[in-house]
Amino acid sequence: MSKKAKKKGLVTIPINQNTNNDNSDILIIKLLIVGDPGVGKSNFIYRYTKDQFSDNSLSSVGFESNSKEIDITDKKVIVQLWDSAGEDKFKSITKNLFSRVQGIIIVYDITNKKSFLSVSNWIKLINEENNNIPYVLAGNKCDLQKERVVQEEEGKQFSLDNNIDFLETSAKEGLNIMECINNFVKKIVNSENFVRNVSFSLQDQSFERNTINKIEKCC
Ligand code: GDP
Repeated sequence: MSKKAKKKGLVTIPINQNTNNDNSDILIIKLLIVGDPGVGKSNFIYRYTKDQFSDNSLSSVGFESNSKEIDITDKKVIVQLWDSAGEDKFKSITKNLFSRVQGIIIVYDITNKKSFLSVSNWIKLINEENNNIPYVLAGNKCDLQKERVVQEEEGKQFSLDNNIDFLETSAKEGLNIMECINNFVKKIVNSENFVRNVSFSLQDQSFERNTINKIEKCC
């Protein structure tokens, strides 16, 4: 990594580092979670990997990952979930990761219309960078029925129009979180286009708060 990039806190993603060994029975599937700030991305991961939920915002500072091991037929799969900050100032970095993961989960909040309207922008951004990457859609916070402003039918229609899988989820109640991720992982592993050797290693593992401060100062 150049000194300048290091100073700016940018991450280096080695292109040729194999993370899945062809002879291994363990697969590593890397998924990136995107969506507007506050839709519940961090809690989505928290629920999946730790079966826990936090009432406080876990708003991501940069990019963090958490893993969970699951079994798919004869394979052990380590699902590595990367949480992205949804803020605009990080979008170019998030975009950079679209080619380095095997799938993307787009999350919106059923109580926030703007976050639903943003889904088209996320899809556009993904397709600009890598139009082969599979993605699914999750309408989170479906436990908040009284505050709902995006109807389930709207989510379903959107997913039909865009030919993507869709589920309403609740990270708070643990509803459909496992189904959403595990079904997606199965689909990826069983797809013809499945690439075992996608490189993805954030050299700096996660953006530390002071690193982000540097980015904030420089941008
Ligand atoms: P992120 O910014 O997208 O990572 O969102 P967070 O995971 O930090 O969550 C933002 C806020 O929404 C927090 O106060 C969470 O407790 C809350 N939240 C997240 N998921 C749910 C959910 O499924 N139901 C409810 N009721 N609140 C949620």
